[in-house]
Amino acid sequence: MIKKADVVIVGGGVNGCGLAYNLSKRGVDVAVFEKNYLSSGATGSCGAGIRQQWSTHENAELAMKSVKIFEKLSNELGDDIELRQGGYLIAVHDKEELLQLEKNVEMQKSLGIPVKIISTKEIIEVVPILDIKGMNAIAATFCPTDGHANPFKTTFAYANAARKYGANIFTHTTVTDIKTKNKKVSEVITDKGIIKTDFVVNAAGISSEEICDMVGIKIPTKPVRKEIMATERLQPLFKAMVISFKDGIYFSQQHEGQIVGGIPIPEQKYGYKTAPTVSFLQHMSKTLTRYAPVLKHINMLRHWTGFYDVTPDARPILGETKDLKGFIHCHGFSGHGFMISPMVSKILCEYIVEGKTSDILESLSLTRFKDKKIEHEMAVVG
Ligand SMILES: Cc1cc2nc3c(=O)[nH]c(=O)nc-3n(C[C@H](O)[C@H](O)[C@H](O)COP(=O)(O)OP(=O)(O)OC[C@H]3O[C@@H](n4cnc5c(N)ncnc54)[C@H](O)[C@@H]3O)c2cc1C
Repeated sequence: MIKKADVVIVGGGVNGCGLAYNLSKRGVDVAVFEKNYLSSGATGSCGAGIRQQWSTHENAELAMKSVKIFEKLSNELGDDIELRQGGYLIAVHDKEELLQLEKNVEMQKSLGIPVKIISTKEIIEVVPILDIKGMNAIAATFCPTDGHANPFKTTFAYANAARKYGANIFTHTTVTDIKTKNKKVSEVITDKGIIKTDFVVNAAGISSEEICDMVGIKIPTKPVRKEIMATERLQPLFKAMVISFKDGIYFSQQHEGQIVGGIPIPEQKYGYKTAPTVSFLQHMSKTLTRYAPVLKHINMLRHWTGFYDVTPDARPILGETKDLKGFIHCHGFSGHGFMISPMVSKILCEYIVEGKTSDILESLSLTRFKDKKIEHEMAVVG
């Protein structure tokens, strides 16, 4: 075990590894501690959708700028992250929803996001297997540069590139405590040894609350259970991710042919229970085949549980804590931490290396809950 690092990152998910890459590329001496294997947290159980269609300015801007980074990431890291940009199609079910989504589209367009409202006829042109009556749609919003990537390949590509720049990544190593001195972080205790440092980044996903407890910081985050499934492989049928905020469903066809998607299970919303439920399978298959009746004839092959770390306003908590120098928050992603990870890594790296702050970092700080400066993200599923 090494004795010292400029920055210690807790968590080897897409955010921990992405930040390790950005920092080590800038010559910072980084150590990452991951208690299991890389991407064993939410990253490895996620749908890995990348969408720029959000209701809050911060999320839309983070996602839009992340897409620009994702588009070059395979080349930059030297590994294919399997980015596919087939777009996101968001179903609109009634006039009230249309009004809200029209507002979102206007804001998204003002940022340069190529999104538009499409008719029911155009919905079928984008995803021919959809049944407009079954899904009960009056229109949709569509952004062709949205898409998805492979979450494992993205995380490992970041980690491999970080290692090439000298980052030390320790898997199967648990952070058990953090020591502070004169209101600054000073040491990280792991089950394999102690390491001195000036910065600790909490990128521990649903365990971020535990990491914050180690330094006496309270965060208002809840673990929300999610179930997700994959079908057998099919011939290419459609390219877009289909989602509905009202029904909570999302699904897309992966490059290899399987359909991957999820839907919330109201009776098991919170907690850490990993056992998948039959009720998810019933709810998912009923809703999926209502949207796309042709899928009645296919088999679901796998089904698993993952967890969102959800904040009260469904926006992440980022940046340094005012009362404790060197303690950096990088969590609370509320179900969309994969798609914004390139920008999150970039802005936290700039903060640590240059002390650079920004409006986004300010508005996503932990203090917003105390100061009651909260704007709720509305464009979430489940
Ligand atoms: C079913 C599902 C579908 C999703 N779909 C999408 C989607 O389509 N698009 C999207 O953008 N996001 C999606 N998400 C959310 C996304 O997966 C997460 O926001 C993102 O992966 C978070 O990455 P992370 O690196 O912050 O955390 P994680 O990937 O959770 O990584 C945290 C890591 O910290 C480690 N750790 C915890 N405690 C310690 C400790 N004490 N010591 C050492 N290591 C520790 C954990 O083992 C874990 O590997 C989905 C999530 C789920 C569950």
